Amino acid sequence: MNSQFTVRFWTSISLFKRYSSSNVIRHGLVGMVGRTPMVRLNKISDETGCDILAKAEMCNGGGSVKDRAAYFLIREALNNGQLKPGGTVVEGTAGNTGIGLAHMCLSMGFKCVIYMPNNQSQEKIDLLKTLGADVRPVPVVPWDDPNNYNHQAKRFADSIENAVWTNQFDNRANRQAHIETTGPEIWEETNGKVDAVTFSTGTGGTLAGVGIFLKEKNPKIQVVLADPQGSVLYNYFKHGKFERTPGDSITEGIGQGRLTENLKGAPVDDAWPIMEPDLLNMTFRLLDEEGFFVGASTGLNVFSAYQLAKQMGPGHTVVTCLCDTGQRYYAKLFCREVLEKRGLLDSLSEKYHKYLH
Ligand code: PMP
Repeated sequence: MNSQFTVRFWTSISLFKRYSSSNVIRHGLVGMVGRTPMVRLNKISDETGCDILAKAEMCNGGGSVKDRAAYFLIREALNNGQLKPGGTVVEGTAGNTGIGLAHMCLSMGFKCVIYMPNNQSQEKIDLLKTLGADVRPVPVVPWDDPNNYNHQAKRFADSIENAVWTNQFDNRANRQAHIETTGPEIWEETNGKVDAVTFSTGTGGTLAGVGIFLKEKNPKIQVVLADPQGSVLYNYFKHGKFERTPGDSITEGIGQGRLTENLKGAPVDDAWPIMEPDLLNMTFRLLDEEGFFVGASTGLNVFSAYQLAKQMGPGHTVVTCLCDTGQRYYAKLFCREVLEKRGLLDSLSEKYHKYLH
């Protein structure tokens, strides 16, 4: 088989044929990207009189919402010939995109090199190593510094043969994943009965992609950006200025200091800043009342959905997503000492302290 044929072969068989004709049997790992369960968060819904629904994105094959983007980034690199058999995928990531890419690289026979800011959870680094990725944690510096993890990833990809820097922040294949999968799934699973969606933003792929798809279907659907402390997006979308909100956040993978290509043109109706105590208590409420063990960006998403439902009033349907599981942050988010050091322990309701180690 020549290599061009091999790529075409993979592209048609392994990548595009993700579901069998019965739609029950999924084809391999990429078949496990998308079609995640849509879950009604029962207690929180009942309290507000709304349906607060969430796509359970930890059910993707690689365990997070970023598997969708990872699949589309690889699909594009294959389609445009940037990635050939035996090649290397290089990415800058807070971890979840890297984990999605590493899973897919194993299933397709590519090598994977991951540049990460060195303040991310150890669990994600360990998982990436287990998945065979070459993980390179680098000091945290802003985007406009040439040593930012994304620029280092690009430079490395440029320096070796048959490698692609997938560039999740500015490559619109990322938001395309949500235009083609998450958005249609939400529309179908709610039978079009959705009043609002709300998501936190890292690259902006989820928010922009879902927003673009749903607004086409019904422009009245509200798209609300939920932003952690220390990010510029709330101020940008609300007041038109690039100014960080005060403080920083225990969340990982979300918050942004610039307008990425994936975020540009996103149909955002409203934005609000979510405070640390609110997202933290919601993360533990999801565990305590609903039985979901999730990460902090999920706590933020669901707090935003809860706030939106209360604002809209009973009878509405608000959709968000559960981004990943709490296991990826066990040593940090669920640790008494870490919360105490960050000044968060006192703001966590006493009734949730029993879940800390
Ligand atoms: N939650 C988590 C845990 C993430 O890792 C990310 C992406 N880094 C997001 C939410 C946000 O997704 P997006 O990049 O599509 O904005």
